[in-house]
Amino acid sequence: MYGAGDVRIENVPDPQIIEPTDALIRVTRACVCGSDLWPYQKMERSVSGRVMGHEAIGVVEDVGADVRTIKRGDFVIMPFAFSDGTCVFCHDGLQTSCVHGGFFGTPEVAGAQAEAVRIPLADGTLFPLRVRADDALMPSLLTLSDVMGTGHHAAVIARVAPGKSVAVVGDGAVGLCGVIAAKRLGAEQIIILGRHADRIALAMDFGATNVVSERGDAAVERVRELTGGYGVHSVLECVGLEQAMNTAISIARPGGAVGRVGVPQEQTIPGSEPAFYNNVTVGGGPAPVRAYIEELLPDVLERNIEPGRVFDRTVRLEGVPDGYRAMNDREAIKVMVKP
Ligand SMILES: [Zn+2]
Repeated sequence: MYGAGDVRIENVPDPQIIEPTDALIRVTRACVCGSDLWPYQKMERSVSGRVMGHEAIGVVEDVGADVRTIKRGDFVIMPFAFSDGTCVFCHDGLQTSCVHGGFFGTPEVAGAQAEAVRIPLADGTLFPLRVRADDALMPSLLTLSDVMGTGHHAAVIARVAPGKSVAVVGDGAVGLCGVIAAKRLGAEQIIILGRHADRIALAMDFGATNVVSERGDAAVERVRELTGGYGVHSVLECVGLEQAMNTAISIARPGGAVGRVGVPQEQTIPGSEPAFYNNVTVGGGPAPVRAYIEELLPDVLERNIEPGRVFDRTVRLEGVPDGYRAMNDREAIKVMVKP
């Protein structure tokens, strides 16, 4: 990506092992993320460009001399953040705060919308899949690198539990995975806030019980009506814009919690006053998806959940620029890349 709206496919040198703790993977599936649309809309022009993409599954082609647990030929999930797996935050299950970690697809570390990618700290970062997985499972396995783990994180932070009422703000891929996560954690009522017919239909399939297509005050009013006037126990904020955050805080019931995973586009958290007076807990951030793979993987393998259904378009590398456009125009929910 060279600037807003400017995505190009280029031939670049193959990635190389630089540190002895690196691995190289051949990407078998990658995708475009809703968060990639922020730079797609706003990135300043750059001469060197940025290799985008932070979600992938693939096969290990080579490992550095100090890599111990990952082997050539392993089929792996690449979480969107790399981490050493040994520091205090990794031990706490918060790999996105790893003291030696960082993120793929940044100006510093090349991303995965490519044929191959260099993985720093391979032992801590990659999750090797030890079971055979067929082709039909690939889309769902790919979601464990970001969107499914991120939706799950929102649900965990929002304290979703059996019998609780939940609202999901945002009907993008993360919001839809948030619905899956809420249902999986036993929520009784799941209200999806969104207005795109195809996404709403998928949300209902995933377990949403109510739809609110209004926005702003009207949306708040409608959620109150659906919850006996009180609001919901848990809100999953999966957008990142001020209005979405205001809505999220306004529909939480007193003592409730908001789990925010939409990348914030503001410096301050809106809704401070209602959050205070209603004792609403607001938390969240980049999901430690590496920590959640272990928990979510069995349900993916047993097909109890099918988060891969959020992909409604597949492109080859040449099709990536159009994939960005399609997601940005809300023509596609989420685009999978098959290099
Ligand atoms: Zn760490």
